[in-house]
Amino acid sequence: MSLTKKIKEFALDVGYSKVGIIPADSFPEYLADITNRSEMYSFFLKGASRAAEPRSQMPAAKSIITTVYDYSQKNFPQELTDKIGRVYQARCYGAPLDRIHGARPQLMKQFLENSGCEVGIGTMVPERIAAAKAGIVNFGRNNFAYADGIGSFIYLTSFVVDQELEYDTPTLEVGCPKGCRACMKACPTQAIYEPQKLNPLRCISYNNFFRQDGFPGGSFIPYDIREKIGTKIHGCDICQEVCPRNRKNLTAPKPDDEYLTHIAKEYILPNFLHMTDDFYQTRVQPLMHNYIKHKKYFQRNAAIALGNLADPAAVQDLTLAMADPEELVREYAAWALGKIATNKAKQVLEAARASETSLSVQQEITTALLSI
Ligand code: SF4
Ligand code: SF4
Repeated sequence: MSLTKKIKEFALDVGYSKVGIIPADSFPEYLADITNRSEMYSFFLKGASRAAEPRSQMPAAKSIITTVYDYSQKNFPQELTDKIGRVYQARCYGAPLDRIHGARPQLMKQFLENSGCEVGIGTMVPERIAAAKAGIVNFGRNNFAYADGIGSFIYLTSFVVDQELEYDTPTLEVGCPKGCRACMKACPTQAIYEPQKLNPLRCISYNNFFRQDGFPGGSFIPYDIREKIGTKIHGCDICQEVCPRNRKNLTAPKPDDEYLTHIAKEYILPNFLHMTDDFYQTRVQPLMHNYIKHKKYFQRNAAIALGNLADPAAVQDLTLAMADPEELVREYAAWALGKIATNKAKQVLEAARASETSLSVQQEITTALLSI
């Protein structure tokens, strides 16, 4: 049996749904697309330059083995999909090696090494384009990759190796029905401004994750975006949920994910707003250990979600949050109280204004009071 065939069989055996292979050439079209829109992608220009040139990271690179993992084999609880993107619930996004979805790529890497391959460690590639070049996905107008028979709820992982292998035929096309624009219409922030063109700065997921100190623009979420975030605190699936290419998958009967069902009852917004170290470590990090490294950003996102729900019952929790030691949490709790806009919310804001020492929090309180 050829090495290519052995690799593909092993990948399927450890749970990947599809596997394809391409030469480890550069991706000039990918880099051109990102650099042409550098004002939107300033946070990722270095990463894109690296990913576009696999051999700049691993000079011996000859092939890229790219895989599809179907993370939608079980049901996702509604209590979680309201707030958390499915890919994070599925625990495969950058999963640690001691978790099942981290162990799978590790098994694959060990198999490749035992088969005589050098495997690039941390070698980045543009996963969606690599998988389309390898014929295992095509594109949606919402920018996601779609695998035949599954849809877009997939996780792509590539392995760069120093061996020449047998290569697959590309499927670099858009596979959407003619005239469909459902994803563009459904996006709350109009982040998809043309088919296959996303402005990440408007995407809810970006605003959940990358509005952090150390990123362009820091932790400030623009007011017009806050209002459209709804209850999403870590990722947004709306442009995939409305997609007819996912309908069959989303409506198919599936078993529950017992782990998610077990923790879902604790995934209430006040638990995020008043995040304890224990909740952060035992409930948040097993799902969301990837982008947000400080609990204050989850607290901020929960405050926005509570503000958008505009439920007067949340005033009590937001009042407590106005005494949080983190300025960021107080700023967004003030914004949320302004959205709820009851007499009680106004009283809390006025009392906080009298004692608040942070200028940025004072400013948010003033803005919130003006909106009531
Ligand atoms: S993930 Fe959400 S905010 Fe981002 S493009 Fe899709 S629908 Fe829009
Ligand atoms: S909603 Fe329509 S246009 Fe958007 S990705 Fe799905 S099929 Fe394509």
